[in-house]
Amino acid sequence: MADDDRYVTRADFERTLRHLNLADLDVRNLVLKLAAQVVALTDELTRRMPPAENAEPENAATVEAAVDDSIGDNFLDIRAADDGASRVALDISGGDKYAAVAVAIPCAELIPLCQGRCCKLHFALSTQDLDEGLIRFDYGKPYTIRQRSSDGYCVHSDPTTRACTTHAVRPQICRTYDCREDNRIWIDFEKRIPAPFDVRFQGDAVKLDRYERARLRGLAVWREQSAIDDSYPDGVPKNKEG
Ligand code: SF4
Ligand code: SF4
Repeated sequence: MADDDRYVTRADFERTLRHLNLADLDVRNLVLKLAAQVVALTDELTRRMPPAENAEPENAATVEAAVDDSIGDNFLDIRAADDGASRVALDISGGDKYAAVAVAIPCAELIPLCQGRCCKLHFALSTQDLDEGLIRFDYGKPYTIRQRSSDGYCVHSDPTTRACTTHAVRPQICRTYDCREDNRIWIDFEKRIPAPFDVRFQGDAVKLDRYERARLRGLAVWREQSAIDDSYPDGVPKNKEG
């Protein structure tokens, strides 16, 4: 056996996980499409029930064509309602993190007060972060940032200084997040009064229309699919096409 076959590298392992997670998203998408089809079919059959004895059904198109026409709207509704239920989270903001404009907050000066608690927030990594393989994610909850079980901080936060040990490559949300109006962090930022430290850091501070979230999530999955395909050094294997 060649030496190269003896060990699986972290990059190999994470690429395999990405394939599996993408397969999970594909299956979920198919189930949602099927649900949209059932809703469209039920609506159409209900609409075709003759209003009175001997009356003609009002739609002359085939049931199949009518279902095809309305499936798009139903799918959008179902995907939006499904928002947040997926086991695989991806950063949906898009864009290049290195082009993001960082929020100007004097963190080094404030860390003795805030204790860098923004680094206890849960958030998802982007395809760009996954491709770089430098920021760690939780294998049990892909692709949320990996946190230490000892103190709940991101594994890249220095446990003593609370500084980011991976500052140059930190994810996009770490660059653009603004803690000043976040009441999980500050009671009053201007007066430098931090919130109580035992606040549970749950949820996403960014509120978006659920349809917009569903649309952006679809785009994030598409980016992930493209990146995995692009990662094959000799092109996508034949059996993966179509
Ligand atoms: S909580 Fe705010 S001030 Fe403190 S480290 Fe995070 S971003 Fe900087
Ligand atoms: S990557 Fe850095 S800035 Fe982002 S949560 Fe982790 S320690 Fe904080």
